[in-house]
Amino acid sequence: MSVEAILLGTAQDGGVPQAGCTCDHCRPARADPALRHWVACLGLVDRAAGQSWLIDATPDYREQLHALHEWAPDCPLAGIVLTHAHTGHYAGLIHLGREAANTQGLPLYASARMAGFLRENAPWSLLVALGNVELRVLTPDREVQLSPRLWLTPLAVPHRDEYSDTLAFVVRGPQRRLFYCPDIDGWDRWSWELGQVVSEVDVALLDGTFYSADELPGRDVAQIPHPLATDTAGRLAGTDNEVHLIHLNHSNPLQRPGPEREWLAARGIGVGAAGMRWQLDKRGVL
Ligand SMILES: [Zn+2]
Ligand SMILES: [Zn+2]
Ligand SMILES: [Zn+2]
Repeated sequence: MSVEAILLGTAQDGGVPQAGCTCDHCRPARADPALRHWVACLGLVDRAAGQSWLIDATPDYREQLHALHEWAPDCPLAGIVLTHAHTGHYAGLIHLGREAANTQGLPLYASARMAGFLRENAPWSLLVALGNVELRVLTPDREVQLSPRLWLTPLAVPHRDEYSDTLAFVVRGPQRRLFYCPDIDGWDRWSWELGQVVSEVDVALLDGTFYSADELPGRDVAQIPHPLATDTAGRLAGTDNEVHLIHLNHSNPLQRPGPEREWLAARGIGVGAAGMRWQLDKRGVL
């Protein structure tokens, strides 16, 4: 009975297609569902325990929860883990309240600041007050046990912290570890060294929001900093470990096969795709 992780979304907070956008990626995605991308989200399953979890509750929560249930029908949702308070990462919590699923005491793991944000601000505060969720506060660098064979270590990462701080996660199964980091302002601003973290896990899913700085005409990317995919690939070139970029902005050319993907692949780095799965209790992908 295996412990597994499944990638359930790969887009930046706005998804693909993004609302109102007529760019060369969003227009075709409206016509062809195969070109649409759900917002970045990771599912976790412990089949022996009969439990599953989501890292982040995205605007695509309904579809992602369904995809998780299809993949592991005997493993109902046992909790949600949140990275931070940007809309793509927690707005899906709207589906937990009385208007929808009306969950009862669903464990909701978040940093102290994120938990405080939810407790103190409507409409999220009602989920706490009515007991739809039960907040469980995470402390950076302190591992928590989700199930008998699944552990989670939050790592604090620098990010635009308007409402909350931001966490990345090392997910640990009995034999393998996966690093999940959808959002970070820049690797140099982090207290950890990217190459070292990647070398200590088996799989890394990293912020690949933008491929290049000129991707967003008319917007100042300094206001929304992320490591460029080219920078991340340069730091990890030749890595032996499995690395995929996720959290791709609608403008990012890495969404499609092309020279940018080939450039990345030549450096041993892949692009995440919804449905990718990893077993964490033994070697090899599913
Ligand atoms: Zn994001
Ligand atoms: Zn677009
Ligand atoms: Zn963010």
